[in-house]
Amino acid sequence: MEISLDFDNSFAALPDGFYTRLAPTPVKAPRLLAFNAPLAKTLGIEGRDDAALAQIFSGNEVPDDAAPLAQLYAGHQFGNYTPQLGDGRAILLGEVIDRSGARRDIQLKGAGRTPYSRGGDGRAWLGPVLREYVVSEAMHALGIPTTRAMAAVATGEDIWRETALPGAVLTRVADSHLRVGHFEVFAHRGDTDALRQLTDYAIARHAPDASGPLDLLRAVTERQATLVAAWMSVGFIHGVMNTDNCTISGETIDYGPCAFMDDFHMGRVFSSIDSQGRYAFGNQPNILVWNMAQFATALIQQMDDREAAAAEATKIIHAMPGLIEAAWLKRFAAKIGIAAPRDGDYDLIQRLLDLMQRDGADFTNSFRALSEGDAEAQFTDRAAFADWSRDHRTRLADEDAPEALMRQSNPAIIPRNHRMEEMITAAVAGDMAPFERLMSALATPYTSTDPALETQPTPSEVVAATFCGT
Ligand code: AMP
Ligand code: MG
Repeated sequence: MEISLDFDNSFAALPDGFYTRLAPTPVKAPRLLAFNAPLAKTLGIEGRDDAALAQIFSGNEVPDDAAPLAQLYAGHQFGNYTPQLGDGRAILLGEVIDRSGARRDIQLKGAGRTPYSRGGDGRAWLGPVLREYVVSEAMHALGIPTTRAMAAVATGEDIWRETALPGAVLTRVADSHLRVGHFEVFAHRGDTDALRQLTDYAIARHAPDASGPLDLLRAVTERQATLVAAWMSVGFIHGVMNTDNCTISGETIDYGPCAFMDDFHMGRVFSSIDSQGRYAFGNQPNILVWNMAQFATALIQQMDDREAAAAEATKIIHAMPGLIEAAWLKRFAAKIGIAAPRDGDYDLIQRLLDLMQRDGADFTNSFRALSEGDAEAQFTDRAAFADWSRDHRTRLADEDAPEALMRQSNPAIIPRNHRMEEMITAAVAGDMAPFERLMSALATPYTSTDPALETQPTPSEVVAATFCGT
């Protein structure tokens, strides 16, 4: 089978300073573990020949017209500026115009060392590759903007992570891989020409109606505000909201130490390296505003009148908490059956969340049970829940179809940490059945198809920490 991809590369048409051209480093024995045929089809890949797909999506065979490169970016990591990050283990093959006319990046993650690898080996192991595959596809099925997973290929090579682990390559598809960090690198260097070029490129690709850098800033703050509200509505904790992991497209990117909460707590943290709780569940809106302030700071370096630009950018940043709160309220109101939130609804939602936190109730299952009318069993303080429920019922009397709205706003299933761990352990042992089972259930998250995957972990199954996928 001939696998053809009709590349149309725009990022590679930017000047040299934005990237380093290089091909993926070949691997020993590529074997296709997972392939997202429906997504591939939207990019024009028809049919399925596992050996041929493994050659391409391991990086062993670079398709004609690909323009493989590693992108340069910087970023604020845990609040501190790192002047040069860049794709240390990812290679952008190029862009394809999909069936809907949208430009899509195709990137191989774990494809070998690049000039931006610093101390790293340029590789990824099977665990984080399958984790990203499952979580990013689950996010997509939940209706939340995200990079996608098209393929996972085992390399047939071991890599060293405290112990020897099987290597793998993930093929990631995105509206683009442009990050806030792409802008920061040129702003901090004082390279205004490059900054202008990059801004024009980002506007053309992601905000074609924008008339300048401040319009771009406004567009990105708007899409990121709705994104963070969407994350919170499903109990998602990104875990590493550094500015290099914050996209211009508004897609979720970098599924390193992310996790979905089981029992609800505003302060929940999973990432093993987030000792201060900077990226805790409830802190995500604040961090997003901080990240967008870094974006604004970078963008205004190219303006002729920086003082006026800074004043305007400040207004845009100061509007963000209101935008996030409105998006959050819309999402959470829908979760309790309210289509158009009004005065008092915020308090009603907050009272429920307070009860959940006090009782250690499961976030996903409590909201789902609410849609089914049997949430009482999720709470230990039944009297307090009954009080809340009475007020809730009164409020719902003004709504047209609250049950239907709740069912389509409250997933029955999320990728739970303990199920992910189980899936990874099995995959390392050569058993892909748990992966297939998870993928199948997570494909229709608002319909319950595999109840055993919906339950909370038992105390011995609880996963307390997650790790960066390095
Ligand atoms: P992340 O924590 O995934 O956002 O990555 C931060 C930076 O480290 C990025 O520049 C990555 O490309 C780089 N990096 C992560 N893992 C590796 C690795 N195994 N080899 C080389 N670079 C890496
Ligand atoms: Mg990253």
